[in-house]
Amino acid sequence: MIGWQVLCVTALGPEPTAIPPLSGPTVLVFPADATGDALAGATAVVCGAEVLGRITHLSVVGDRVEASRSSHGGRITIRVSSTKNLVIATANTMPACDGEITLGAASPLTLEREVIVDQAIALEGAPIVLAGGRGLDEASFAQLEKLAVLVKGAVGASLPAIDLGLASVSRQVGQSGKFVTPRIYLAAGLSGTPQHLAGIGVATRLLAINSDAEASIFRYSESGVVGDARIILPKLVTAVERKLAQCS
Ligand SMILES: Cc1cc2nc3c(=O)[nH]c(=O)nc-3n(C[C@H](O)[C@H](O)[C@H](O)COP(=O)(O)OP(=O)(O)OC[C@H]3O[C@@H](n4cnc5c(N)ncnc54)[C@H](O)[C@@H]3O)c2cc1C
Repeated sequence: MIGWQVLCVTALGPEPTAIPPLSGPTVLVFPADATGDALAGATAVVCGAEVLGRITHLSVVGDRVEASRSSHGGRITIRVSSTKNLVIATANTMPACDGEITLGAASPLTLEREVIVDQAIALEGAPIVLAGGRGLDEASFAQLEKLAVLVKGAVGASLPAIDLGLASVSRQVGQSGKFVTPRIYLAAGLSGTPQHLAGIGVATRLLAINSDAEASIFRYSESGVVGDARIILPKLVTAVERKLAQCS
């Protein structure tokens, strides 16, 4: 290709090597496999190169490199062209190359694995679920957890509460979370959307704490408190602790 050199990365050697200094406009072609794809992307970032993707054909038109890419299972061919002088592509079949580069394999990473054991009661099969929503904060979720320990229940959460980092994803109740059928479900700071309620069995008795008297959760609840859950939950914990102390 006139004015351009095409260098093919053909193998990954045991010794780490850098890409040699490049003279003039260059196309680096990596093999289109998992390692080649990863290396091509990393090299493009490090060198500030332009990425053409997985190509099927390469040519020079004027002072630009043009390439074809197959899309939609080969039904469509996309033509892409370069705007930079260093271009990176991957290919299943290597084009005609002016030279070859052997890159060193990446140094292995040492990964440490830690098994995290969830000591809390699982949502599945729990007779009581204490669930929190977007209306709660970290401190009130901690109160829910305290209450769960006291009544031997499980903590549940809405999707937004999980997105806020207030509970782990294993605690999500609802359409895209878990389906639970406890005897009692306390919904605190939860509005009662269909997506959340879809995760609660119809025989479950719902109780709600919400600061908005118009919240739809009250329409499905057997009993409820209109108020700030951040104030009510600690009071509830104290009340349950007192009751349990009387019983023991
Ligand atoms: C495809 C799809 C799947 C989904 N799957 C799920 C799912 O599996 N589970 C799920 O939960 N959501 C799911 N969602 C999200 C769902 O649509 C709602 O956004 C979500 O259920 C609302 O959660 P929330 O009740 O915590 O928040 P909000 O609707 O924002 O309600 C917060 C409530 O807290 C009350 N509140 C605020 N402050 C206080 C306070 N201090 N004290 C007491 N109350 C307070 C407010 O009055 C309000 O009623 C899904 C959405 C889509 C599109």
